[in-house]
Amino acid sequence: MNTNHPVRIAIALFGVAIIVGAYFIGRSDERNGTNTPLETIVSTATAAITSPTGILEERDVYYPGTEAIGPDEMRVVALGTGMPSVRPKQASACWLVELGNGDKFLFDIGSGCHERLAAQKIPYDYLNKVFIGHLHVDHMGDLPSLWLGGTVMNRLVPLRIWGPTGATPEYGTQYSMDRMQEMYKWDIATRSGVIDFRGGVLEVNEFPFDGLNKVIYNENDVIIRSFPAVHGLDGAVSFILEWNGLTFVYGSDTIPNKWYVEYAKGADIAIHESFLPPPLLVTKQGFNPLEALTVGTQGHTSPEQFAKVMSMVKPRLAVGYHFYNDFDIKPEMMKRIRTLYDGPLELAVDYMVFNVTKDSIKTRMSAIDEDIWPSPPILEKIPPDVSEFPFSAFTISGALPMLDVVQPLYDEINDLYGTDYEPFFKPPEPAEE
Ligand SMILES: [Zn+2]
Ligand SMILES: [Zn+2]
Repeated sequence: MNTNHPVRIAIALFGVAIIVGAYFIGRSDERNGTNTPLETIVSTATAAITSPTGILEERDVYYPGTEAIGPDEMRVVALGTGMPSVRPKQASACWLVELGNGDKFLFDIGSGCHERLAAQKIPYDYLNKVFIGHLHVDHMGDLPSLWLGGTVMNRLVPLRIWGPTGATPEYGTQYSMDRMQEMYKWDIATRSGVIDFRGGVLEVNEFPFDGLNKVIYNENDVIIRSFPAVHGLDGAVSFILEWNGLTFVYGSDTIPNKWYVEYAKGADIAIHESFLPPPLLVTKQGFNPLEALTVGTQGHTSPEQFAKVMSMVKPRLAVGYHFYNDFDIKPEMMKRIRTLYDGPLELAVDYMVFNVTKDSIKTRMSAIDEDIWPSPPILEKIPPDVSEFPFSAFTISGALPMLDVVQPLYDEINDLYGTDYEPFFKPPEPAEE
């Protein structure tokens, strides 16, 4: 016996009822002098049954580049929440803060985060202020990529860096940035004269690492302060950004310290590292037990230490980061944190977004478009001077000019833009007799 039989009969009768009903409605339309086709009536009835959704008023997902920031709003985007060894799910430390006045700031620029930054679809001219908490590679590893890659992606304004001094000059940000410019001498030489390279200028602002809540930035009603962190060596700091009555605190890396507890108190959003607990550093990361204890509690902050810090700071939202945040790890982190801290809490992963206003803090995840192109620059580009390519006669002698395919490309551009550009590489002049 077929148990579906009554259901099938009911569906069939319902369908017949719609068609018959539609027929009689159509007849009545005819009698009333109107003429609604039978198919229209049937499709309208079917649409009502399938219940179309339309556009949702409240978005549960953040789509970069599609959502205006409110005039009183601070938007914080986690662009790197993982470890020094980057992985597809998590880059190293990087946080983007966008304000309702249009300003944007980067806090740390760790390895792998540039790709997450690009996914925000923000013109690079606006991404020119970077605050580095300390000079570990997982907090500045993508700086060369943002600096030099950014020039190709249309940044025409200097890249501005803020970072701390060290115990001696060679451990400071200025020394590091000078060497970075030396390291990329070849890169710089290949780009200047070929593209508009104004964005290649690096502005370095080194400030004393031991300043106690000292203002290091004060522009456009945005104040950024720094205070010391306890991590690695002298020369690690944490930051506070204040704007429009909202306070963002970023620890970079540090073990619990009295300055964070004092200056971060009552912050709207307080970010602090929360490292893997020592037992997981042994089993998951392959540390030996002493390494796990030393790194996990004396160089970094265990979940329990994080919890104790946040129970003293009492922010509107506490955010932990700097661990591999997986489905089997997060419950263990939460269990340990919740023994000592029961306030508002998020454990960040890359692309987590926080919309902060005086009334609410909303946490969402971003939906990322992988096909990202650079946004146009703010300033007009200046054509470079390509009259001389910096090659020796030796290298020029090896180039194949291929004018049969290159000249048409020049002609195509010259026709499109009314220019008269010529290729640099030409076939060699015939030797004189
Ligand atoms: Zn570090
Ligand atoms: Zn770190």
